Amino acid sequence: MNRPKKRLSQNFLTDSLVINKILNVVNPKEDERFFEIGAGKGALTKMFVGRVKVMESIEIDKDLLPKLKQLESSSNNLFIHEDNILRFNLDSLSENKHKYRIVGNLPYNISSKIMMWSFKNMKRIEDLHFMFQKEFGERLISNPGNKSYGRLSILTQYMFESFYLFKILPESFTPKPSVESIFIKFVPRQKKDINSPKVKKLQEVTHMLFSKRRKKISTSFKNILSQNELIDLRVNPDDRPELLGVRDFLRLTEYLLKKNNV
Ligand code: SAM
Repeated sequence: MNRPKKRLSQNFLTDSLVINKILNVVNPKEDERFFEIGAGKGALTKMFVGRVKVMESIEIDKDLLPKLKQLESSSNNLFIHEDNILRFNLDSLSENKHKYRIVGNLPYNISSKIMMWSFKNMKRIEDLHFMFQKEFGERLISNPGNKSYGRLSILTQYMFESFYLFKILPESFTPKPSVESIFIKFVPRQKKDINSPKVKKLQEVTHMLFSKRRKKISTSFKNILSQNELIDLRVNPDDRPELLGVRDFLRLTEYLLKKNNV
């Protein structure tokens, strides 16, 4: 038997109550297409494949492939991809450009990168259901004023509508991780493009402000926006960036885009 690989964040779901809870909240339908990130030993794959039209699952670990391939050959709608999710483009999946529902008990060590992957593949995504390390997941859905609120919260909340679903205890996995987990649903917002000048500027603005998280907004924006411009934009120059909501960041972004004539 292969030993679980820490470097690939291999903590396999073994708790049938949690697996059924996932199935219930995701509620897969027989005319839907699913794409699973990190199939592992197939705990979720097995449960979804009989309930959906198409199940595409990606797994990077060659040692886990024989079992997954076996599962693939015993069903007619499962497609296993031996690949790295970070190099995989959903556009390569079908010529008809269908949308996919994405599901995954993610490799926690690349959660941020998988969120960026999701932003890039947004056009092909119906919705996402992801399991993360609890602290990381909380960052994504966190509100202004919260310690965990930051750049990734703002970008995620601009690109997706997010819904907290439930927490999962370490005992539900083998091997047992040292952290708690969280299951979250995301629905892409309409007409958001990670490569648009607006989103690029938004990322610049959040970077500028959050790299000096403890500084006043007016200090971080010295030489960029005056105190009066900030006040006109309904931003208190003396506030710290973590008090600004996504809409405040957007007002700043749009103003700077116009000012720089982009
Ligand atoms: N879905 C299974 C479950 O719930 O038991 C496995 C979940 S485990 C937390 C994450 C899985 O993602 C592992 O099987 C791991 O090998 C795989 N993985 C890690 N990095 C990956 C990558 N870059 N691309 C694809 N799969 C990856």
